[in-house]
Amino acid sequence: MSDNLDQGKQEALDKAFQNTNVRSFEKECNKDSNVKKVIGVVSGKGGVGKSLVTSLMAVLANRKGLKTAIIDADITGPSIPKSFGIKKKAMGTEDSIIPVVSENGIEVMSINVLVEDETEPVIWRGPVIAGAVQQFWTDVIWGDIDVMFVDMPPGTGDVPLTVFQSLPVDGIIVVTSPQELVEMIVTKAVKMASVMHIPVLGLVENMSYFECPNCKEKHEIFGRSKVDEIASAFGIGSTARIPIDTKLTELVDEGKIENVDSDWLDDFFDEIIKA
Ligand code: ADP
Repeated sequence: MSDNLDQGKQEALDKAFQNTNVRSFEKECNKDSNVKKVIGVVSGKGGVGKSLVTSLMAVLANRKGLKTAIIDADITGPSIPKSFGIKKKAMGTEDSIIPVVSENGIEVMSINVLVEDETEPVIWRGPVIAGAVQQFWTDVIWGDIDVMFVDMPPGTGDVPLTVFQSLPVDGIIVVTSPQELVEMIVTKAVKMASVMHIPVLGLVENMSYFECPNCKEKHEIFGRSKVDEIASAFGIGSTARIPIDTKLTELVDEGKIENVDSDWLDDFFDEIIKA
């Protein structure tokens, strides 16, 4: 049972779903794969930095010597290959796909490493998207992976839910920005995770503040951060704050996210990985 909801709410949810095995669509991964931990990264909407947080967490895992992989499940807005500067396409055999590997050794699978033209929009419906993500799990030869991060489709609607049902996610990280109705998004994410019996491991507030490059003062330009309050209200153990930093935008645009040298997620990462 998740620690994130009180007993009464959890019982009500369990009752509502008692005849439904919500994770019944989960499939075995490829016989040549052994993935020890799967962490999903979710957000209430697009553009809040979910892919950035996925990339940063993967970079930290890789630096700690963990065999790291990323599934870019944000099929209609795939941005992982770009932030790692990956231009290669995935190789495939008759019935399996070999992931592409970043400069420092992170294995990546994304719709963008399969399609010829990355600028073509993917206009698939939910079940097809979920099917593609499921194939990233079942048909990709991942090999031995210590930790896999999944950049989930944004929101808590039908598509992310179906994707969740297809993958054996061990825990999720929720990414928000201060402009959002954070409490509502966290409530929805916690409920979704609770239905799936997946713990919410951490909450990241992206674009949390701006640090003046001259005086080093931190300006909370979207208002005072509520991330710790909200996390503690929902029993979420770990939080982190990432500032607005043009260095990050540049690293993503240049495909050099592996060169990042900031420590905003260091403690958060250590807590999440041992959770
Ligand atoms: P999402 O995955 O939630 O759609 P992204 O991670 O793709 O969002 O971020 C959207 C854009 O905002 C990207 O161009 C990214 O580089 C930029 N961005 C995200 N977070 C920050 C930040 N803290 N500082 C500067 N730019 C950021």
